[in-house]
Amino acid sequence: MKTYSIAIHGGAGTLVKGMMTKNLENQYKAALKEALNAGFSVLANGGTSVDAVKESVIILENSHLFNAGKGAVFTADGTHEMDASIMDGKSLNAGAVSLISGIKNPISLAYDVMEKSEHVFLAGEGAMKFAKMNNYTMEPASYFFDDFRHEQWLELKDTDSFQLDHAKKKDSKFGTVGAVACDINGNIAAATSTGGMTNKRFGRVGDSPMIGAGNYANNKTCAISCTGSGEFFIRGVVAYDVACLIEHKGMSLSDASNEVIHKRILEIGGDGGLIAVDSEGNVSMPFNTEGMYRATKSSNGYEEISIYK
Ligand code: ASP
Repeated sequence: MKTYSIAIHGGAGTLVKGMMTKNLENQYKAALKEALNAGFSVLANGGTSVDAVKESVIILENSHLFNAGKGAVFTADGTHEMDASIMDGKSLNAGAVSLISGIKNPISLAYDVMEKSEHVFLAGEGAMKFAKMNNYTMEPASYFFDDFRHEQWLELKDTDSFQLDHAKKKDSKFGTVGAVACDINGNIAAATSTGGMTNKRFGRVGDSPMIGAGNYANNKTCAISCTGSGEFFIRGVVAYDVACLIEHKGMSLSDASNEVIHKRILEIGGDGGLIAVDSEGNVSMPFNTEGMYRATKSSNGYEEISIYK
């Protein structure tokens, strides 16, 4: 039987160890485990990689611990604007949304853009109109409110900085979530969802919903979901860069993803990490920050749930 596997992340960054209590660490690990197992059981039951990554991301979006869906960070206006994308490595179909609010599961909307529209990427008002047409219910702002995110925002409110700028000062982890999977038929997929960066302005959009930057899947090479300083991940076209190293330079999944995270993105000033899978079920999870919430499980019996190096 072919190896099937899944990997998920809940963001990378400066996860200051002192701020992490044993209790909080257990909560993060439990949330990661739940999301991991949900996606893995889709695969174990013969489901597709697309359904598996969507399932895992929905669970991470529903947890207030991560910066996606419930628990999304605050914009400069004190609102939540979320971005998400999903890609099917078999068909190269993709769906993405950005600048959406009030939607409980942005990844479901991205999936519906892929499945029910002629388009790949819907933004802002248009994306919201599409959600209404597809009978999405709107959650009140209170659903997305999280004390910790609110405190993070109050520190930056009325300044020109957004979260990146105090990266070294405090716990400034990026809590974007993502999943990549390889199913029983060797088809791969990637999904990513985020609230973006705290105190972002002007309709700022990061790498997460951009196909090729924060999210990409192609059976020929790899499926990738990124987390980190979005501006740099966009400039580095990170997810597609990993695929290019595999396709054009013949690199392995692990060599290509390490080259991008530990060399190419660092050279242009980016920090963060990614999760990657290929159509043989190999997994790689490199990051150049202090930690990255991450987990992986494979039909060959390997399982890992970790935060720090
Ligand atoms: N990459 C995301 C963004 O720039 C942030 C994150 O990974 O948490 O929007």
